[in-house]
Amino acid sequence: MFQKLALIGIGLIGSSIARATRLKGLAREIAISTRRPETLAEARALGLGDSYWLDPVDAVKGADLVILCIPVQSYGAVMEKIGPYLEPGAILSDVGSVKAHVIRQMAPHVPKGVHLIPGHPIAGTEHSGPSAGFAELFINRWCILTPDTGVDAAAVSKLSAFWTAMGSNVEIMEPAHHDMVLAITSHIPHLVAYNIVGTVADLEAATQSEVIKFSASGFRDFTRIAASDPVMWRDVFLTNRDAVLEMLGRFLEDLSQLQRMVRVGDGAGLEALFTRTRAIRRSIITAGQETSAPDFGRPHAATIAGPAGTTQADATPAPVVEVNVTPALPVREHGGGDDA
Ligand code: NAP
Repeated sequence: MFQKLALIGIGLIGSSIARATRLKGLAREIAISTRRPETLAEARALGLGDSYWLDPVDAVKGADLVILCIPVQSYGAVMEKIGPYLEPGAILSDVGSVKAHVIRQMAPHVPKGVHLIPGHPIAGTEHSGPSAGFAELFINRWCILTPDTGVDAAAVSKLSAFWTAMGSNVEIMEPAHHDMVLAITSHIPHLVAYNIVGTVADLEAATQSEVIKFSASGFRDFTRIAASDPVMWRDVFLTNRDAVLEMLGRFLEDLSQLQRMVRVGDGAGLEALFTRTRAIRRSIITAGQETSAPDFGRPHAATIAGPAGTTQADATPAPVVEVNVTPALPVREHGGGDDA
């Protein structure tokens, strides 16, 4: 257990950590700091912490665990302020969606004796702010920690235990590797979603209203991802540029191949690819990172019986790609989680 947890930033992720910490009794005291008085008032009204501060320096004093839960481009200015006030022996962490960049921002301001252990919970939704959080957000989600090799092993174990207690599976990774993995699993999918929804936004009004009126699940799911916080995602693409461009290059090559298959009528090629992609989907379900319920488990009429008492969802089993997975914990349904 920590004596004092200081959360710098109290949006979706910070407030979820506050709630889970309370629920599980992981810190004796929770200090909350955020930039705007209205956000601080919201956090106070929700009873998320024990003390509330506009100046992050006040929050970090005496804290043995400090977690930055703010957009990654704002780390430098905040670190400059709080660096001199971090307690010797404290763990300094974060939840930022990119890691190499944030380490460059944080490391120069970390005093001797403070353990810098950057982190990234692969969990989230498209909602923002203190009211959007919930204690179960991290259950059965991965939390990736990217400590430098020289960091105190006991401190890494203590922070791992904190995330495990909130329900996460913890993985230790090199920061650059993290950024490459997340580029393809999260950043490119968001870029694609922003692009598809942006294309619709640019259509002439009459066509656009038809797209909205008849939006089927494919487009609808893209709109959910494309509703994610604009500032956070701007920062992700600006700060993970190299990995995103590398993965985007591969993606565009594959898209060109698909374009060719459609143009030349290569049905066998299309079917082979779609069979492989379906297998990936099954692996994610097997890994406990998604539910097999139709339409991402949304409560709706997807289980309406078909003509012969069957459901309308296609239940054809597909081959499962072998992935290295930890046994699944229960998945909380919250309309599909986004991972940043
Ligand atoms: P959020 O709900 O929008 O909350 C953002 C928090 O950061 C608020 O407390 C906000 O303060 C503060 N903030 C915003 N701009 C700031 C600035 N320039 N300087 C100082 N503080 C600032 O965001 P979130 O979704 O919790 O994301 C926070 C971090 O978690 C990001 O680094 C993101 O990459 C990471 N993350 C997000 C997700 C996700 O799905 N959302 C998942 C994993 C990791 P005010 O409201 O007072 O302005």
